[in-house]
Amino acid sequence: MTDYLKLALSGVQKLAPYQPGKPIEELEREYGVKNAAKLASNENPLGPSPMAVEAMREAAKDVWLYPDGNGFELKTKLAQRLGVEMKQITLGNGSSDILQFVMQAYVDREAEVLFSQHSFAIYPILTQMMGAQAVVPPAKNWGVDLDAMAAAITDKTRVIFIANPNNPTGTWLKCDALAAFLDQVPERIIVVLDEAYFEYAIDPATGAEDYPDGIAWLARYPNLIVSRTFSKVYGLAGVRVGYGVSHPQIADVLNRVRPPFNVNSLALAAARAALDDEEHLKKSVAMNAEGLTQLYAGFEAMGLAYIPSAANFVSVDVGREGAPVYELLLHEGIIVRPVANYEMPSHLRITVGTEEQNTRVLTALKKVLA
Ligand SMILES: *Cc1c(COP(=O)(O)O)cnc(C)c1O
Repeated sequence: MTDYLKLALSGVQKLAPYQPGKPIEELEREYGVKNAAKLASNENPLGPSPMAVEAMREAAKDVWLYPDGNGFELKTKLAQRLGVEMKQITLGNGSSDILQFVMQAYVDREAEVLFSQHSFAIYPILTQMMGAQAVVPPAKNWGVDLDAMAAAITDKTRVIFIANPNNPTGTWLKCDALAAFLDQVPERIIVVLDEAYFEYAIDPATGAEDYPDGIAWLARYPNLIVSRTFSKVYGLAGVRVGYGVSHPQIADVLNRVRPPFNVNSLALAAARAALDDEEHLKKSVAMNAEGLTQLYAGFEAMGLAYIPSAANFVSVDVGREGAPVYELLLHEGIIVRPVANYEMPSHLRITVGTEEQNTRVLTALKKVLA
């Protein structure tokens, strides 16, 4: 038989698929545990806004029709909300769609793609998929070392990815540092500022002071693309919707590689409604800040070091190899995220849950580490 792996593009052959967090049903099926808590994918433990659920119910009767391929109503609302023009917005099937469009539009096999050590796993995967070269400067104190990043720029650099805050470290870059870096980046290089956790990071209670709002900087940096998502604080990870905001010319380019109807009609309806539910947003952000405080206190009581986070998760150093601790936690019905693949072998990334879930994870952690 023909070897169909060998037929694939060389970048694709070497691709290791993204490892998602373990689904609750899978854990319950395989381990025979009940009432499992999934704190592995940075989902909102409160779920979506009831208004978003209602909007999807309403939209369900029209699913025989193709969705609005231009997402007119959602883009109109986003444009108003963000103070940008509609033509600056690109909608994605999740914000990872936007990241992929950037790569498809701007990166070839001669290109270098720059991102820091410990960066979000999608960046190396997309780079590999394009057959391009990843350039990965070491992090500093778990965060992006912007001096090392600037020094790593070459004539071949096409795209730079920065997640702010970063997943899985939770670290964030402040206004001055990020602006000083962007000032050094040649305009021909696309900078993707991945703000998947923006709504958490701007909450003063999270403690990320001087956290920059990338969208406010678009006029100053025409090479900037800011990506955001409805998967995290809006609790809509399952329907897949996110967006990029950029210079209109870049949005036009992304739109050319975007598949038609990439965002489905339920997702469009849910996202629009979610933007109207300020109460749910506030409640989610407030619960997260309390949850972070609760987890930090629990870690401190156990003598575990953690990386202070501006997002809805925290990476904790369990003081030994993380993978076996992850396994033991599964037996306790708790799903967290091992991050050895991020060069953080003794850390586990834990999504902030409800107060009860946070208590459960702390209790379980104490038990398995004893
Ligand atoms: C979760 C996450 C995303 C968004 O994923 P989508 O569900 O595709 O919107 C993007 N970047 C980072 C850093 C994330 O953690």
